[in-house]
Amino acid sequence: MSEVRKNPFTGEWTHYAENRKNRPYEFLHKIECKYNGSEGCPFCGGNEDKTTPPLYQDGADDCWRIRVFPNMFPTVNEGEEKAFENTFYQHASGRGLHEILVDTPHHEETIDHFSQIQLEQVFGVLQERYRKMLLSDEVKYIQIFKNCGPLAGMSIRHSHWQIVGVPVVPQRVELMRRHMQADNCFFCKMLAYEKEQGIRIADENQDFFAITPYASRFPYELWLCPKRHISTFANVTAKELMSLSALLKSLLPQVASLRQDIGYNICLIDGEVGGDFHWHIEILPRIGGFAGFEYASGSYINPILPEQAAEYYRKRK
Ligand SMILES: [Zn+2]
Ligand SMILES: [Zn+2]
Repeated sequence: MSEVRKNPFTGEWTHYAENRKNRPYEFLHKIECKYNGSEGCPFCGGNEDKTTPPLYQDGADDCWRIRVFPNMFPTVNEGEEKAFENTFYQHASGRGLHEILVDTPHHEETIDHFSQIQLEQVFGVLQERYRKMLLSDEVKYIQIFKNCGPLAGMSIRHSHWQIVGVPVVPQRVELMRRHMQADNCFFCKMLAYEKEQGIRIADENQDFFAITPYASRFPYELWLCPKRHISTFANVTAKELMSLSALLKSLLPQVASLRQDIGYNICLIDGEVGGDFHWHIEILPRIGGFAGFEYASGSYINPILPEQAAEYYRKRK
């Protein structure tokens, strides 16, 4: 049973997915790993029979680089039945799609060591899956993300992404959209202002800025923002994916080396399916962690000013 319920006071949605409590969790005691190397790991090359049948695979079994398959422990389900009636609270049945993209057949390879070509290929396939998911009438929002490291929520060490199409639009995304649109894309205006100021620009190339946002929630938080107003990931061009990969190639080792034992999340932030948004990527190092203050208040304590974080990234060469 999978269901989504809305908090009537804050507008936040919570997904209930009972089947996820049965999923394998590799980092049981942080140091001990369930899968030491490729033996038993469902994401390793040669172990293709341990996953659901692939939706995409760029080579024969044991000879691929990228592989996509439905998540065996999905947050939302394609055939989920309608939720029971409740007229007091807002809710929806957990209908949707949840896919896993494994971006390397090698157990120990991490994304901060990928070549630019590898990154381009991964983003190309993510975009293909994103476009396919857009065709589902049940999906109102698509979240693509990657957890790197045990304290960033990773349950299996082997590098992978998740693509989740859900039936509701998250409150944070809805708020961002409203503020963008209220001022004829405030995000575009923010990028122009940041370019003028310069102090929070970590890097840039022809198509993207890498900024440490003004009100960063996490220490060393980094956003990769297209210079052009791109309303959805589906509309990013092949040339722009190339620029994005070049920027990631140069910045990810810096993110990964902050604290290797903790990790970070890479999140593609889109708006509601079919709506206007300023698509971008948020990279969230999980150094600070969330504690009672953050959970209770929705406010964040960040010991690193974004201006200091930008300096750290600029110093890398
Ligand atoms: Zn593996
Ligand atoms: Zn814009």
